Amino acid sequence: MSETSMTTPAATTLVTSPEISIVIPVYNESANLPLLFERLTAVADKMGRRVEIVFTDDGSKDNSLAILKTFVEKRPDLIRVVEFDRNYGQHMAVMAGFETARGEIIVTLDADLQNPPEEIPKLIAEMDAGHDVVGSYRRDRQDSVFRTLPSRLVNLVRERITGIKMRDQGCMLRAYRRNIVRIIVESGETSTFIPALAQFYAERPAEVEVEHAARHAGTSNYNLYKLIRLNFDLMTGFSLVPLQLFTMVGMGVSGASLLLVVYMLLRRIFIGPEVEGIFTLFAILFFLLGVVITGLGIVGEYVGRIYQQVRARARFRIRTIHEKT
Ligand code: UDP
Ligand code: MG
Repeated sequence: MSETSMTTPAATTLVTSPEISIVIPVYNESANLPLLFERLTAVADKMGRRVEIVFTDDGSKDNSLAILKTFVEKRPDLIRVVEFDRNYGQHMAVMAGFETARGEIIVTLDADLQNPPEEIPKLIAEMDAGHDVVGSYRRDRQDSVFRTLPSRLVNLVRERITGIKMRDQGCMLRAYRRNIVRIIVESGETSTFIPALAQFYAERPAEVEVEHAARHAGTSNYNLYKLIRLNFDLMTGFSLVPLQLFTMVGMGVSGASLLLVVYMLLRRIFIGPEVEGIFTLFAILFFLLGVVITGLGIVGEYVGRIYQQVRARARFRIRTIHEKT
């Protein structure tokens, strides 16, 4: 096939050696996919570059996969669909898209139209200017305060703990150069946070401001539990500070306890044994118990991740890739 065939709707096979790959994770997005398809293909066609779009169906329970397959039929020149055998989560869906994508520039995007596809050329322009990772931050974030407030807090803690500078970690509209994507794929990490990993490897990062819309249809796939898990991945995946902090707190508490023991000993010698104040002691004890349990939890977070990694089980299983080659 000829290199220009991607712009003519008549093309029936996939573009060869694309310049730009757009990677989109999809989980139960059937209500959003038709509009996404319209807007995304319009943007892709207008760019006048060799583009491919890689959707990963992350084990959707609705008919997302069936819809995605019709996209392959409609635009075989543009669209490829990775089919997972079950749900592995957003970041693994993106990871599979990365493995499959062939472009020199790889753009990620959410399927729910919170990231307007029309902003993609803005990212590409920055990439063309020589950056290797282009992140984005949302101009006017369209989420409830229950999402924005915690996320602002987490952004702050994350920057302190991991030292990774990112204005808006939650915005997935990002572009990466091929070499960055290759390092990410080869890292073999299972519980990871792709934008942070990219930021970590980036040599010339940039950030642009993008529009943000409310979810087109449906509700967020992230509940509080999943959100907390994701942020644990981020904190422990990029830093040992939680462990070190805990050790320091432990040392501080031990020092203070030692002083208390010395004081009690002297008191016993000079004033005599005391029986009162027992509940104060309990209170202190319960507090320390809380500290110990937290510490066990933190250690557990790391041990669990080590265990996952050591088992070296496949990060995800691709059932098939739907494409017209
Ligand atoms: N997603 C996914 N697998 C999951 C959860 C989400 O592939 O297990 C996709 C989802 O289809 C969407 C993106 O990841 O394209 C972001 O998810 P969502 O909009 O639910 O998250 P939020 O925008 O609320 O952070
Ligand atoms: Mg969303």
